[in-house]
Amino acid sequence: MEEYFNVADIFGENVFNDTVMQERLPKKTYQKLKQTILAGEELDLETADVIAHEMKEWAIEKGATHYTHWFQPLTGITAEKHDSFISAPLPSGKVLMSFSGKELIKGEPDASSFPSGGLRATFEARGYTAWDPTSPAFVRQDAAGATLCIPTAFCSYTGEALDQKTPLLRSMEVLSEQAIRLLRLFGNTNSKRVIPSVGAEQEYFLIDREMYLARKDLMYTGRTLFGAMPPKGQEMDDHYFGSIPERIEAYMRDVNIELWKLGVSSKTQHNEVAPAQHELAPIYAQCNVAVDHNQIIMETLRKVANRHGLQCLLHEKPFAGVNGSGKHDNWSLVTDDGINLFEPGKSPHENIQFLLVLCLVLKAVDLHADLLRESASDVGNDHRLGGNEAPPVIISVYLGEQLEDVLRQLISTGTATKSKKGEKLATGVKTLPDFRKDATDRNRTSPFAFTGNKFEFRMVGSQDSVGEPNVVLNTIMAEALCEACDELEKAKDFDSAVHDMIKKLATEHQRIVFNGNGYGDEWIEEAKKRGLPSINSLVEAIPALTTDATVSMFEKFGVFSKVELESRAEIEYEQYIKSINIEAKTMIDMASKQIIPAVIGYATELGLSIGTIQDACPEADVSTQKELLIKVSNHLREAKEALVKLKETNNKAYTMKASSCEKANFYHDEVIKAMEELRAPVDALEMIVDKECWPMPSYGDMIFEV
Ligand code: ADP
Ligand code: MG
Repeated sequence: MEEYFNVADIFGENVFNDTVMQERLPKKTYQKLKQTILAGEELDLETADVIAHEMKEWAIEKGATHYTHWFQPLTGITAEKHDSFISAPLPSGKVLMSFSGKELIKGEPDASSFPSGGLRATFEARGYTAWDPTSPAFVRQDAAGATLCIPTAFCSYTGEALDQKTPLLRSMEVLSEQAIRLLRLFGNTNSKRVIPSVGAEQEYFLIDREMYLARKDLMYTGRTLFGAMPPKGQEMDDHYFGSIPERIEAYMRDVNIELWKLGVSSKTQHNEVAPAQHELAPIYAQCNVAVDHNQIIMETLRKVANRHGLQCLLHEKPFAGVNGSGKHDNWSLVTDDGINLFEPGKSPHENIQFLLVLCLVLKAVDLHADLLRESASDVGNDHRLGGNEAPPVIISVYLGEQLEDVLRQLISTGTATKSKKGEKLATGVKTLPDFRKDATDRNRTSPFAFTGNKFEFRMVGSQDSVGEPNVVLNTIMAEALCEACDELEKAKDFDSAVHDMIKKLATEHQRIVFNGNGYGDEWIEEAKKRGLPSINSLVEAIPALTTDATVSMFEKFGVFSKVELESRAEIEYEQYIKSINIEAKTMIDMASKQIIPAVIGYATELGLSIGTIQDACPEADVSTQKELLIKVSNHLREAKEALVKLKETNNKAYTMKASSCEKANFYHDEVIKAMEELRAPVDALEMIVDKECWPMPSYGDMIFEV
């Protein structure tokens, strides 16, 4: 180890955080900014000028030469356009370093090269980025230099959101408003805001970079399109939480240092289920900051890997037959004075509020299960969800034995008088049991699980942004809270109105609660009986974005307009089409230029060796070689036929005159099928062809030799 350091010393050293602002900004400016952050007020230009100046001075001390508005367009990754701090040269020939409040607050990148799903046609091509002062600016240092990154939202010139952050900030606002309404009804007069807190656990694979570079499929698509299973997979369960190899440990150490400097509280790291799979979890943070931090985490994991001769794979399913990667989105609602609305209370009265909030979550998830499912869909996640290693494609909520029992009592008798586990029953305000944080076994098969004081949404894909899932969670919850408040504010007897409401909600939405095994086939049957949507793929999920229920909810709360939703649906279809087309073309390329020639070479050698042996010794039995040659030749023919078919199908898809929805469905139904038909004979060949002849590293090479 090169040097020892104290984590507390380096933590946040490259962040323009509260401490730095207090130190460097004039008191008045600091207070103005704080007010902006806390109350969501607008910043005046004069204040912004002062902040920009200090931010620039600070960044230059950290070596920054450029600044960038760092934003999250709908590509799933971040984008940036760098500008240097230099001003126009002075008459002396020198330059000054300058950065104005205007430049801090607003940027104008050309929006036309980012996905806009048709918004571009209707509106102007120009777009602008606007500073999100609630997510602190940071200086990113690497071999290429240092840059001041300013987290921003990205909108079209007429105000339509073109990114992940704009709707997220909108959804946080409306959620807070509605949650505060409820808290006031329960007598809370202190809390000013309710903030969704999010902790996103990130799974990823690490493989050797040389091997990565030898696989075109990984390079172009992020996943292997061919590959036979090695003799040993993950069946021994010896990787999960296993000891971390030194090379990986050195990598993780570097990742942590980078993240800590950027104020990302990287906390937990361990090996995951699959060989070569790992996980990193930060400590939870305010929703928009957590979404930004997750992007920083993904960038850092990738960047640092290259320095260690490794490649980080963030795809949901880099290797077929091996556990895929996801992102657990831990979500809770916490007030500015630290009250977690998902924390069971100490008194029965608090428990009533908790139970109501819980039932509102059930309502929200039940009514918008299709939308929540959509928010966790991306092209790669289609390979993972429902695969008996990740949550099923059906949304349900896991509550745990104790809570489910309380709900059952409420539904059947109107009151809950006992609490499982024999905890003390409280009397007084209504007859609800006094239960405490339920630390029972967690159901790992549930897509949406209550885990004590937060919900864990486990469907999100590993390379996807957690932006959209949180927009959906925040807004469906705002809607449920709003409808509850509308009713309760009118109630004459608040206590019994709440009580009746809990019972009604629990009864109406009990179908969404499922504590059993989500991997079992019985659940699919049972869910069908309950009328829960079972949405198998991204293309099936996209329509949820534009249903009446979705549009009216988002419009009511001003989170998305109908046009924005339609544009997002369009973008997702387009992304699907492009991704599958690239995958198909990559397969065609690999099969025609690498695999088939290699197999022909091997078959020829085999044929020659049979001839040689028979010449040398006519009595020798060459039936084994002949059998092998026949097998190889048969698979070769199958592969060749499947290749031709894939080319035709993909070409048909590509040149099809149809809507993006129809096209995407054709890719899903036909092109993917043709891809699978090509993969099968190739994988069979890989199992029998001499390893020396195979033109690329095998699964075994990649996942066991890191
Ligand atoms: P797990 O059993 O899933 O590993 P952990 O306790 O390790 O659970 O937490 C996983 C993630 O959840 C971490 O990122 C953690 O910071 C986050 N988390 C913990 N409490 C909350 C909360 N109240 N709200 C949101 N996220 C939380
Ligand atoms: Mg988890």
